[in-house]
Amino acid sequence: MTALGSDVDVTISEVGLRDGLQSLASIMPTEAKKTWIDMQAKAGVPELEVGSFVPKKLLPQLADTGELVAHALNHEDLSVAALVPNLRGAEAATAAGATRMTLPFSVSESHSLANLRRSHDEIFAEVEQIVGHLASIPESKRPGFEVGLSTAFGCTIEGRVSEDDVVRIAERLVALGADEVGLSDTSGYADPAAVKRLTKKIWNAVGRERMHGIHLHNTRGQGLANALAALDVGLDTIDSSLGGIGGCPFAPGASGNIVTEDLVFMLEAMGVRTGIDLDALLEVRRFVQEALPSEQLYGFVCEAGLPKGFRDA
Ligand code: ZN
Repeated sequence: MTALGSDVDVTISEVGLRDGLQSLASIMPTEAKKTWIDMQAKAGVPELEVGSFVPKKLLPQLADTGELVAHALNHEDLSVAALVPNLRGAEAATAAGATRMTLPFSVSESHSLANLRRSHDEIFAEVEQIVGHLASIPESKRPGFEVGLSTAFGCTIEGRVSEDDVVRIAERLVALGADEVGLSDTSGYADPAAVKRLTKKIWNAVGRERMHGIHLHNTRGQGLANALAALDVGLDTIDSSLGGIGGCPFAPGASGNIVTEDLVFMLEAMGVRTGIDLDALLEVRRFVQEALPSEQLYGFVCEAGLPKGFRDA
């Protein structure tokens, strides 16, 4: 959703502060999160998802999201994103001044009932209310509104998810007034062919301008291959998390989201510009590891270092 500057080919959207931290037992102090935000913005990351506007008792790890949005907005060119589960969350995100917000919509209705405790009809109704809320805000202060199509590639409860269902839901969400939809491989079921096929099907249904991004997990080690497929087909925003934090409880050794450092290395080595300084990014990683001493970070570039003579694209 971020407007691409002429000096960037792909927008990396860092989700470690949200998707990563929400699945850790440790609670990172707010001051450390602010330093993380500052360091990563300085390294050139164009978009940060800083948290989720969910009730504190559900996710105490993310209880400071409003404060973090306000802090991140000090970085003028940074797109500041947050997850919102419902209208109330959307109102909080808007009040905090978020640049964009994402509502998760589980394409698998059993997953939706189990995780969000809501049926598809209830979430469609929520989307309508959020669109109504946004219409009441002056355009200059209105965050971009994306609906993330969770479990788009498969689901731990239902297994296979029909691509026709994903397309049908995407069409309805756009018809209801969502600015964008985004593909989300919640459980690491995607493969590169599926990424390309499903992207094309959705674009055919709702138009290319309605979908720019993909959210990938590395549960089965397919994250970078899937990111490359996304890039090949023409998506231009890829979510990733620093150090792949979060992990996967069902797949020991697997990172959570794809690892930002490894993704940026792949892209820059290919000549695809991300606007991110890899050395600075590796510094952020060291900081985050120190701030979360008992948590495992993932990734290869950090361990091996940059190749001799490596230069950013
Ligand atoms: Zn995720």
